[in-house]
Amino acid sequence: MKLRIEIDAAKCMGQGQCNYWAPATFALGDDGIAYSTLSQPGAENSDTDEAVILGAQGCPTRAIALWRGEERVV
Ligand code: SF4
Repeated sequence: MKLRIEIDAAKCMGQGQCNYWAPATFALGDDGIAYSTLSQPGAENSDTDEAVILGAQGCPTRAIALWRGEERVV
């Protein structure tokens, strides 16, 4: 089951840890706030789930939540 990504923009401080670990999944917008590139139409992920989880776990402000179905992974 694919990971579902939620980013709380209000908590993001733009340090880019998520993007460091999973550059195909997380990006920083012009406003310096992270977003998931997977929210783009037709986007495909070349990061492993492990890399996405590391990116979420590395977020210093816990702005990223990962879900697999009803289970919260991070
Ligand atoms: S690691 Fe967290 S605080 Fe840093 S850019 Fe990503 S979502 Fe924002």
